[in-house]
Amino acid sequence: MSERYADVIVEISHEKVDRPFQYRIPDRLLEQVFPGVRVHVPFGRGNKDMTGYVVDLSDQTDYPPEKIKDIAGVDENGTTVESDLIQTAYWMKSHYGSTIINALKTVLPVKQKLKQPVKKKIVRLCDKEEIERQITECTRKHQTAKCRVLEALLEEEILPYALLREKLNVAAPTINSLEKQGILSVEIENYYRNPVKMISGREAAKPLSKKQNLIIEDVIQDYRDGNVGTYLIHGITGSGKTEVYLGIIEQMIAMGRQAIVLIPEIALTYQTLLRFYKRFGDRVSVMNSTLSMGEKYDQMERARRSELDVIIGPRSALFTPFPNLGIIIIDEEHENSYKSESMPKYHARETAIRIASGKGASVVLGSATPSLEAYYRAKRGEYKLYRLNERLTGGQLPQVYTIDLREELKEGNRSIFSRKLKSLIKERLDAGEQSMLFLNRRGYAGFVSCRACGLVMKCPHCDVSLSEHRNGKLVCHYCGYEVGKPQKCPSCESKYLLGFKAGTEQIEEAVHKEFPGARVLRMDADSTRSKESYEKILSAFADGKADILVGTQMIVKGHDFPNVTLVGILAADLSLNQNDYRAGERTFQLLTQAAGRAGRGNKPGEVVIQTYQPEHYSIVHAANQDYDSFYAEEIVYRELLQYPPAAHMLAVLTVSKEEEQGSYVMEQFAKLVRERLGTEKELFIIGPAQASISKINDLYRHVLYFKHPDYERLVQIKDLLEAYSREEDWKTQSIQFDFDPMNSY
Ligand code: ADP
Ligand code: ZN
Ligand code: ZN
Repeated sequence: MSERYADVIVEISHEKVDRPFQYRIPDRLLEQVFPGVRVHVPFGRGNKDMTGYVVDLSDQTDYPPEKIKDIAGVDENGTTVESDLIQTAYWMKSHYGSTIINALKTVLPVKQKLKQPVKKKIVRLCDKEEIERQITECTRKHQTAKCRVLEALLEEEILPYALLREKLNVAAPTINSLEKQGILSVEIENYYRNPVKMISGREAAKPLSKKQNLIIEDVIQDYRDGNVGTYLIHGITGSGKTEVYLGIIEQMIAMGRQAIVLIPEIALTYQTLLRFYKRFGDRVSVMNSTLSMGEKYDQMERARRSELDVIIGPRSALFTPFPNLGIIIIDEEHENSYKSESMPKYHARETAIRIASGKGASVVLGSATPSLEAYYRAKRGEYKLYRLNERLTGGQLPQVYTIDLREELKEGNRSIFSRKLKSLIKERLDAGEQSMLFLNRRGYAGFVSCRACGLVMKCPHCDVSLSEHRNGKLVCHYCGYEVGKPQKCPSCESKYLLGFKAGTEQIEEAVHKEFPGARVLRMDADSTRSKESYEKILSAFADGKADILVGTQMIVKGHDFPNVTLVGILAADLSLNQNDYRAGERTFQLLTQAAGRAGRGNKPGEVVIQTYQPEHYSIVHAANQDYDSFYAEEIVYRELLQYPPAAHMLAVLTVSKEEEQGSYVMEQFAKLVRERLGTEKELFIIGPAQASISKINDLYRHVLYFKHPDYERLVQIKDLLEAYSREEDWKTQSIQFDFDPMNSY
C-alpha cells in the first residue's frame, strides 16, 4: 500500500492559515486521521511537540519521503470548533474545486488587531407628543433626515446607532444637532459588557395565520424528532415568510439552539433588521460588508462564546461557529449573490445543507420565485414544500400591461417609451405619485459603433465594447480603460460614429426631454460606487425628493416605496438575449420582482412591460405572476438539454497570458477526459472554446463544459484535470472550476 500523508497547520492561528506542513500518517493512525482532527507533531529542528490540525490528505509528496516526519499522535481532547470549520473547508475544496488554503480562508475569519470597539445607542429623551411636534416642525422645514430619526424614535425608545447611520442614512451632524436640542442622547456601551436591552419595547410575536403556524410547528416537530431536513417556503412578498422565520428562531432559542439567517446584502434594510432586533434584542448580530475583518472576527468570537443567538448576514455568515446551531434560514434563496464568484465557487444553499447535516440542524429556504434547483428538489420530495399565497398587508396585485415594441415602431413611435407608458407616467406626475423605470440590463451606457462600416469601439485590453458616458469619454467597465470619443471612425473615417442609446443615463436624459420638470433620480453601478450613495439615493426617493427613479436591478430589490404606483420595464428582452441557460429564469425573476414593486401601499399599482417578444414564456408568466406555469415550461427545456437542475454542469475556465497556451491546455483537458470517460453515454463535453468575453485585462480566457447527471462524476473529472495540470506543471496558468455555474463564461 502506498504511503498516506497529511497536511498539518501547526498551532492554527487566525493570522496564518497559509503554511501547512506535510507529515506521514503512521499505519496505526490511518483510521483516526482526517481533515479537522487535532494531532501532535514533532516540529522544527528540536522536534518540539506541537499540536496542529490536519487540513488535507494525499498519497503523494513533493519532498523526499525520508525527510518527512511522522505524526506523533491524535490529540485526546477531541474535536473543536476549528475541526468543524476545517471539515467544511475540506468539503468545499473537494466539492467545488480550489486549493485547501483558499477554502480555509473562506471559512476561518482572519484575526486582526482592533481598537477597543465601541457600540453606541441612541436613547429618546422626550415623550412621544414632543417627538410628534418636532416631526411637524421638521417636515415644514424640509429637514427630511431629522424626520427619519424622529419617526424611528417615535416607535422605539432605544435604537442602535449604527442602524440609524447606515440604514436610514443619517449623518452624524444630524444626530448631534438633535442631541443638542435635548431630544435624544447618544450613549456608549462596551462591546463585551452584556449591554442593556438594545430595544426597549421588545415585540411579541403576532398572532399567526394557520398556515404560518403549521410551517413553524412542522419544522420544530421534525427537529425535536431528530428528523432534520430542508424546507422551502414558496410565498409572494408580503405573505408572512419573515414572520415564520422569526417564529422558528424563537422556538429554537427556547431549546438553547442558535440560528443563522442569510439575507442578500441588498435586502438588509432598516425595516428587516429592526424586526429581528425587536424580537431578539441584543442577542442578534448583523454581518455585512461594511464590517472590517476585525469586526467580523469579533462577531465570530461572540457566537463561539454563546453570547449571540442569531446572526444575520450575507453568504459568509454561514461560517459562524455556533456551538449549538439549530437552524439556517436562507431568504430570497434564488439570489445570484449566494454563489461565490471566487474560488472555491461555493453555493450558500448547498453549503448550508452540508453544514446543517453535520450539526444536526435544519435549513429553511424562502422565496417568491424559487430557483429552479430548489423547486425541482422540493417537487421530488427532497425538500418539504410550503406555500403562502396571500399578501397579509392587503394591497392588491398590480395590473400588468404587456406592450409589443414592434407595434409601437409600426405606429411610428421611435421613443423608448411606449404610448401606454408615457400616458401612465404623465398621470402619476399629475397625481403626485411616484414611478420606477427599470432597465433590465447589466451593462450601463450603450456601445458605440460606426453606422457606415459597422465597426464597434472595443477596449484594447478586454474583449468588450466600450461604453459612452455623458462626459464624451468611452469607458471599459471591466478594466477602467478610458479614451476620448474619436471624431471619425478609426476604420473608414465616416463621421457617423454613434452611441447605441440604451443605458440608464440615456433613459434619464429621455425622461428629462419627455417630461420637463419631473424630478429624476438614477441608480446603477456608476451612481452607487459607494455604499453610502446607494442608501442616499434610496432615502431621497423614499422621502419624495424625486418623481421618477431610473435604475438597473438594484432598484427592484429590498426597499419598499409605498408611494410608487407605476413600474415601467423598458426592455424586458435585454436579459433574455444572453447566451446563457439561466437567461429565462433570471428574466422571469427580475420581471416578477419589478412588477411586485408597484402598489405596495394602499393605492393600487400598474406595471408596463415593454418587449419585442411578448409571446416569450418568461414574459407571459411574469406578467401573470404565475410561477408554476413558468417552472413547468422551464424545466422541460432544462431536462431536454440536460442543464441543471436536471443534470449537473462543470465549467472549466483557464486564464492565460498567451492565447495559444490557453487553447492548448484546454485541448489537452478535453482529450484526456475523452480518453478516460468518453464511452460514458451520459457525459456531454462542450468545447473547448473562447469564453464569451475572450479577453480581460490582456489575459485570454477559454472555457470547457462538462454535463453529467451525477455530480460525483464531475468531481472526478475536476480531480483528474487538477492532477494532470499539477503533473504538467502549468504554473503560469490559472485554472478555475465552477460547478452548476450561475452565468456562462
Ligand atoms: P415576507 O417575508 O413574505 O415578505 P413578512 O413576514 O414580512 O412577509 O410579512 C409581511 C407583512 O405582514 C409584515 O408587515 C408583517 O408584519 C405582516 N404579517 C405577517 N404575518 C402576519 C399575521 N399573521 N397577521 C398579521 N400581519 C402579519
Ligand atoms: Zn466605419
Ligand atoms: Zn478593458
